[in-house]
Amino acid sequence: MQDSSIDRTHSFSSSRRRFLRAGTAAAFCLGLPSLGWLSGCASLPESSALPWSELARSMQGPLLMPGSPEFAARARPWALQYASTLPQGIAQCAGEADVQACLRWAQANRVPLVARSGGHSYAGYSTTTGLMIDVSSMNRVDVDGATGIATLGGGARNKHVYAACRPYDRAVTHGRCRDVGVAGLVLGGGIGFNMRAHGLTCDGLTATRIVLADGRALNCSATENADLFWAIRGAGGGNFGIHTSFTFQTFPVGMFTVFEMSWTDRIAEVFAALQTMALAAPDALGMKLSVKAEAGAPGLKLSILGQLAGPQAELLALLAPVLSVHRPDKSVVEERPYWDAQEFLSEDGTPEYSHERSRFARGALSGEAIDTILANLRAWPGTTVAATWKFFLMGGRIDAVSPADTAFVHRGASMITSAELEWTPADSPDVLAKNQQWLSRFHDRMEAYTSAYCYQNFIDPSQRDYLHAYYGENLPRLQAVKRKYDPGDLFRYPQSIPV
Ligand SMILES: Cc1cc2nc3c(=O)[nH]c(=O)nc-3n(C[C@H](O)[C@H](O)[C@H](O)COP(=O)(O)OP(=O)(O)OC[C@H]3O[C@@H](n4cnc5c(N)ncnc54)[C@H](O)[C@@H]3O)c2cc1C
Repeated sequence: MQDSSIDRTHSFSSSRRRFLRAGTAAAFCLGLPSLGWLSGCASLPESSALPWSELARSMQGPLLMPGSPEFAARARPWALQYASTLPQGIAQCAGEADVQACLRWAQANRVPLVARSGGHSYAGYSTTTGLMIDVSSMNRVDVDGATGIATLGGGARNKHVYAACRPYDRAVTHGRCRDVGVAGLVLGGGIGFNMRAHGLTCDGLTATRIVLADGRALNCSATENADLFWAIRGAGGGNFGIHTSFTFQTFPVGMFTVFEMSWTDRIAEVFAALQTMALAAPDALGMKLSVKAEAGAPGLKLSILGQLAGPQAELLALLAPVLSVHRPDKSVVEERPYWDAQEFLSEDGTPEYSHERSRFARGALSGEAIDTILANLRAWPGTTVAATWKFFLMGGRIDAVSPADTAFVHRGASMITSAELEWTPADSPDVLAKNQQWLSRFHDRMEAYTSAYCYQNFIDPSQRDYLHAYYGENLPRLQAVKRKYDPGDLFRYPQSIPV
């Protein structure tokens, strides 16, 4: 019979603790069936026929079943178009041993599995119709004030990093969205406003712990399992195993200037001037530029948002040539201590319907490219929400690492560009189809001005030749690591690295 309540699963926890103390982790590695079968599994086992209570007993954290109070909220991904894919059970792991118990149970019972951390996969790749191994409760972050080393649980989110680093005036390269999981962020590279001064999120990673399909928990660093450590810095989540901790070297942070400005007139000229400024700016500048077509708005709006590790006067000097082209309609420029600055820059990122398609650019976008971007946005068919094209300025310390030194191959890019479409269920299937065609044409057209390379963290289910787009010449080495550490291809999803 299927367990249906969280209370009942809780009642199994104490026996699980006794079980663990008896040292089951070592036994886990023994007697597992071959791992290749999951891929050949023709159909999903009936949930009611599965021994869920056995799984619940073997875990310290709770097992949520459909109907239990938290199930719907825990199952929901950020990308709402994938929200109808529901797991049969959600294992809320309390620690590494729970992750191992889940992997053993799922393989023994031939249940597909997926890891869930922050749930922000653009393609819903942390959803499943099998077992969701939810590590989001493993979110503790400890910072050693003396060494600046931060140790994170495998389910920590940006907001947990903010809270733990703030008292020490230290940081890593993090994202703006408080609820994005560090697991997904760092495994795909990780971009943020600090990246030009300090490198990508993955460049600050010094070690991680990962549970493999065969149940082993490995330490990975430059000196331990170095081939896997190379691969996980850029492969993207969900490819080799389930990470239970991440160790970062943080850096000190001081006073910053944050800024947000927008223009609705003379957009092409302002865009060109901003790009010229940004590409010549010191690494202390982190900036995003976006051009938005919004439902109901009469024209396009160009905005910039970012930070400078420096005083306000320095930022205004950088922006002077842009401001001489045209004054912004809105402008906020403030000096703040770093973590107050992040209050200004960060956002909650509530679940939504959206599709984002990225391309890395090298060097400056030509005048023709800018005209193409604006023309496409002006031709947006329209939804009830918006369409946006944006770039995130790259360069600086990101390029201190060579494309072959980590799996993140996109070193040397000047910017990540992306076109994003947002909609709601109020938009009819016809409207949505027209908009998706528009997005595809726009994305295809931009290849001529940017590159065929796309950001693996803006994972895109409609990207052609995605393996080349995400990994370039690092793909063969990634596949070799995959064959070594996950030979049975247990960790797979539509765009995972094939064995
Ligand atoms: C609103 C929003 C803002 C964003 N901002 C940024 C940004 O500033 N910078 C940036 O670089 N990217 C950004 N992204 C992209 C983001 O980095 C990716 O979507 C990332 O994969 C999300 O990670 P997650 O843990 O939240 O997602 P999840 O959906 O939980 O996981 C993503 C993938 O990783 C796997 N996974 C999850 N946890 C683990 C684990 N512990 N071990 C192994 N695999 C795991 C999942 O199975 C899935 O395949 C943003 C995305 C959104 C939606």
